[in-house]
Order: sequence, then C-alpha cells, then structure tokens
Amino acid sequence: MTIYLSATLRQLVSQRASGACEYCRIHQTFSIFSHEIDHVIAIKHGGESTDDNLVLACLPCNRHKGSDLTSIDPLTGAITPLFNPRTQIWAEHFQLEGGSIVGITATGRTTIFLLQMNETSRLQLRQALAVQGLYPDLPLNI
Ligand SMILES: [Zn+2]
Repeated sequence: MTIYLSATLRQLVSQRASGACEYCRIHQTFSIFSHEIDHVIAIKHGGESTDDNLVLACLPCNRHKGSDLTSIDPLTGAITPLFNPRTQIWAEHFQLEGGSIVGITATGRTTIFLLQMNETSRLQLRQALAVQGLYPDLPLNI
C-alpha cells in the first residue's frame, strides 16, 4: 500500500531527525539507500500519518520493523513493545559501545533483535564510522 505523505511532512520528519535513522542512528550520508519515513504505529493498527507517529528510519531498520509493534525480548522471552522514537528517549534504552548498539532495557534488547541492528555489515559500517568520529553524530562542519 502506498501512503501519501506531503513533501512538507517528509521534510519535517527528516529535519527533526537531523538526517539520521531514529532507531540505529546511522546518518543518511552513509546509507546506500535513502532513509524512509516510518509509521511507528502502522496504518493497519490505527496509526495515522501525522508527525507524532512518523520517524526517519534507514531501509534495514524499516524493513525489519515492518508493521510490528512488539517482539520477543531475547533475554527473557517476554513479548515486549518496540522502541518508539516519538515517545521514548534513545539513551534510556540503548548504549553505544563503539559502533555496537547495546540494549539496556527490555525494549532496547527487543528492538535491536527485531531490527537486526547489530547485523555484521551494519555493525562493521558503524564501527568504521565511529573510529572516524562520524557515528553516532556527524561533526557540525561536515
Ligand atoms: Zn536504522
């Protein structure tokens, strides 16, 4: 299903995220594919195409997330809500160790698991960028 989002809304979401995926924090500059606008709560679950339900997501995060709202915490096996960048704070659920993303809550662990945020090629890219000071944030002068 194609969902129409106005250019203004797309621009707002992208600028609000400073061009970085709101899940794994990779910047658009370093992604082969364009970042996408993700509905945190998918339309099929009653989510709306409004700015408070939209986030900027890289293609791998968005594809793995799909329309899911929960997954299984790999530590406890419990059904757990995914991280919501609109209502939750990244640093309260994740920590960075070099380029590796570590879940510090059930939601963090579950989101990393479902979105495969530490898949080998993604992890290697982030590690290489982190060494150069290009991950998680870009220098202001780039
Ligand atoms: Zn991502």
